[in-house]
Amino acid sequence: MILLILILIALLCVYLHISLSWHSIDVISLEAEEFIREKLDPAFDTERFRSYIDKLLQRIDFLDENKVIFFTPFYDRKKSQSSLNAHTGLPGQKVIIFTPGWAARLYRESFAGKSDGAITDLFAFVLGHEMTHKEQRRFIFLFGRKRVCAGWLREISSDFGGIRKSGLSAGRVRFCLEKEILEREGRRQRRYGSKTVLRPHPTWEYRMKCWESGRMTRELVDKICRDCGITDRRFCDRMKRIYAEKPAGSMRRAG
Ligand SMILES: [Zn+2]
Repeated sequence: MILLILILIALLCVYLHISLSWHSIDVISLEAEEFIREKLDPAFDTERFRSYIDKLLQRIDFLDENKVIFFTPFYDRKKSQSSLNAHTGLPGQKVIIFTPGWAARLYRESFAGKSDGAITDLFAFVLGHEMTHKEQRRFIFLFGRKRVCAGWLREISSDFGGIRKSGLSAGRVRFCLEKEILEREGRRQRRYGSKTVLRPHPTWEYRMKCWESGRMTRELVDKICRDCGITDRRFCDRMKRIYAEKPAGSMRRAG
């Protein structure tokens, strides 16, 4: 019992430590700056980056009280920090974390005289996707295929959330994704999440195929359940109640 209490206290300390360190960072962490200068862009100028990001965030009007932070550690370190990846942080936290790769790419955009805006549109979509995650329920007591299935549903419904919040069309997001991630980073990202079903993320190709439905329909939820090998009807019906959206309405908020 005492051991359990000590473990809980330790976990709380870790959580608070991470929370406080994240909230004390102003947009970009020192570690991210160093990573960018060393690996991506020796001339990276933090002040210029800050003012560019400030202007960009003012344009993205759906950003509520969430503070955006570019941050290296505490994100899957096996993943390349130069890639474009984002993370919603721990439950209850108002941060959204982007890899230094994102900062470097947006920084380069700040010098572009002429631009098709693909990288900033993609940024708006990803931000909307991560913000939608924050509105969603997290399932704790699900295991195996059901856990995977709920994960896929979360991802795809957050994609619809990202598309809606950013005000872009699915076709435009697809174009930006192809151009800025899939063509540059190749097969690894294209198959990100891998073919095997027991992974928390579906592949980008699978996700883009799902976007063709236009929204999270009951049929789409059914299909995702089937693709994850779910045979339990009651579970699938429950997922429909949580994730399926009505034709014109906004996404049903769960939790
Ligand atoms: Zn996601």
